[in-house]
Amino acid sequence: MRTLAFGFPRLGEQRQYKRLLEGFWSGSLTEADFLQGIATLKRERLREYEGMDIVPCNELSLYDPMLDTAVMLGAIPRRFQPYEGLTTYFAMARGRHALELTKWFNTNYHYLVPELEEPRFELQQNFPLDDVLFYRHHGAETVPTLIGPYTFLRLSKRVRPADSSPTAGAPLTDSELADFGAAVVPVFAKLLSSLAAEGVTQILVHEPALALDVPEEHWQLVHAWYSELSAHRVALWVLCYYDSVCDFQRYAELPVSGLGLDFVSNSENWHLLQRYGFPTGKTLIAGIVNGRQVWRSDLRERLHFLEELHRFCGDIVLAPSCPLAHLPVTTALEQRLPSGLLERLAFARERIAELRLLKAAWLGDSAALQAVHATSQLLHLPFARNEHVRQRLAALTEADFHRHPSAAERRRLQSQLLQLPILPTTTIGSFPQTAEIRRIRTQYRRGELSAEQYETAIRNHIRHAIAVQEELGLDVLVHGEFERSDMVEYFAEQLEGIATTEHGWVLSYGSRVYRPPIIYGDVWRPRPMTVPYITYAQSLTPRPVKGMLTGPVTMLLWSYWRQDISAEELAYELALSIADEVRDLEAAGIRIIQIDEPAFREGAPLKRRDWAEYFRWATRAFRLCHAKARPETQIHTHMCYSEFDDILDFIAALDFDVLSIEGSRSRGAIVDNFAALPSGSLQVGVGVYDVHSPAIPQQSDIEGTIWRVLHIVPPEAVWINPDCGLKTRRWEEVIPALRNMVAAAHHMRQHLAIRTTATRNEHDGTP
Ligand code: GLN
Ligand code: ZN
Repeated sequence: MRTLAFGFPRLGEQRQYKRLLEGFWSGSLTEADFLQGIATLKRERLREYEGMDIVPCNELSLYDPMLDTAVMLGAIPRRFQPYEGLTTYFAMARGRHALELTKWFNTNYHYLVPELEEPRFELQQNFPLDDVLFYRHHGAETVPTLIGPYTFLRLSKRVRPADSSPTAGAPLTDSELADFGAAVVPVFAKLLSSLAAEGVTQILVHEPALALDVPEEHWQLVHAWYSELSAHRVALWVLCYYDSVCDFQRYAELPVSGLGLDFVSNSENWHLLQRYGFPTGKTLIAGIVNGRQVWRSDLRERLHFLEELHRFCGDIVLAPSCPLAHLPVTTALEQRLPSGLLERLAFARERIAELRLLKAAWLGDSAALQAVHATSQLLHLPFARNEHVRQRLAALTEADFHRHPSAAERRRLQSQLLQLPILPTTTIGSFPQTAEIRRIRTQYRRGELSAEQYETAIRNHIRHAIAVQEELGLDVLVHGEFERSDMVEYFAEQLEGIATTEHGWVLSYGSRVYRPPIIYGDVWRPRPMTVPYITYAQSLTPRPVKGMLTGPVTMLLWSYWRQDISAEELAYELALSIADEVRDLEAAGIRIIQIDEPAFREGAPLKRRDWAEYFRWATRAFRLCHAKARPETQIHTHMCYSEFDDILDFIAALDFDVLSIEGSRSRGAIVDNFAALPSGSLQVGVGVYDVHSPAIPQQSDIEGTIWRVLHIVPPEAVWINPDCGLKTRRWEEVIPALRNMVAAAHHMRQHLAIRTTATRNEHDGTP
């Protein structure tokens, strides 16, 4: 029985990785100092992996492992050539026209999408070998990790050289997959020989894409590729995680020496293993401790499970279910968690300790066995229940998930009450989070500002934002979200049953980090969370101000959550708190409420067959938030930066009144599919301003996007807004951009008015 941990967070206990990258980018660190700092972080990883029998390398990417793979294989889009080391590397990652960022599987990590122009590859940079030699120099023998050819190609996109741009391209077709595979596998083979020549005997190959829906034609290719690769003198261990493998038997047949199985995401791998057995002669890399959630493992139960596994396979390697990168570094720094919580948690470092303990216990070490029993006893004590919440949940009936009257009827009432012009303009919620705002927040946290001083400062920003919006002539205003550092953490801090951490940072992409809250008990809302600031904003203007809430699905998915009740129940608990907030906002005179669900798509399981079940409860959770809203309260929702085309039916089932959605990067192309939505009731705001770019959109471009939308959606159902919140932009960019947006809306209104008059005249027979 051996142990292997992999994917330890790159960030470092003190977020050194972030500081190094940002220091280098800003010019305050020289390249030499930067690389020195990275080398230190690399060496520290050896300490984190201490006691593991197999220690991986090539894990400390300088931005993203998919980018590394593209660079390693020479897949450099023409606009970045020639490749000149770090400068090109970071240009691809974050320069002008950088590669596109997209969600990595069903996680909240974003990877850079490689653009494949031609089926031509070369071993451009041998990162794995460099790392093997680096660690050898420091006295450690490591096992290089790679993203395998299937995952690399499946998650890349094909771009014709002519339209090489971050937004162009599409996933590879089956025949492209074959062609590009035929070109890339020899480069992987060359890489393996170079490693073998240096005495490397084993490699870990990440193939999480084998947990997606993998069609038969793909399996044939994958099988052929691995036959070719296994001809080298290096033992290949394939790892597949985030879900069960798509086809257990096909997977088991792969001609490699080790196969990883995730026994945590769900129980399917285990069921299939019992049915089909494990191929003889192969090593099983058993993912038995959770790499996605922060709860300590029930080690007694895991030990028992290992015994079961052992009946099917003699050579087992204990491992986490997936890379540890989805966890914060360590619980050791947390000092303000609610009592009883800390001892139930395991972040990345503590997960590794669990693997060590499991192995020791397996070998019969009595201290380890005692420790194993002690943990399980603790974990079985009831924790943070709230009977009132449980009762509310139990009392829910079908009626609690259905809003009345119909969307069409609500629309009539709302338009009477709101009296908005056609093509109303609005924004998504946040306004620039300036250095000044971050400063007051830090000062308040440190106790340098009293609550009263802090609130006054926030109110001043709100007053400014309202004045700016009125001056710009926007129709529906927002308060600006200055009090929120993060749309999930802000609510998590105010809800009971959810803890926030001090140091629990996780990388979202590049050097960007966030701190997922931890939902540990029944969730409830002791007091209103947004009412004072929103009503203050509303008191400053006669125009409607939107109340801004984060939806239950996003709250859940961007947190860690307890596993003793279902995600569905937990989403309903969150939804009940949000429903209470909706009620309080209405009572305070707020007429429009937006419930953001940017993570709605991300929660979709990797395999289509599981979609219906996820979307069933995800939609119900959202509907629970607004089912009791007054008919005249207009409910908005917002989603961004995902593929929506294939989930429009699920989106429509949310039964909102207005949806705002990303659109500017595809110049409104997303709406082509809206033709399928029930028209006459739902309204859509298509983003006409790409908030992730500092460029200021021109009025004519915005009008172009609106025209495109108007071809599909009737003008009465169209809203005009940016793609997403404006918190990452500067006021100097936001004001001219919104001015152009409002001007475009006004201009289009005139057009529409002329058109309507003209048609009316035609009908009248008047010239
Ligand atoms: N209301 C949020 C904001 O404007 C929405 C953010 C998001 O969609 N990610 O910041
Ligand atoms: Zn958004």
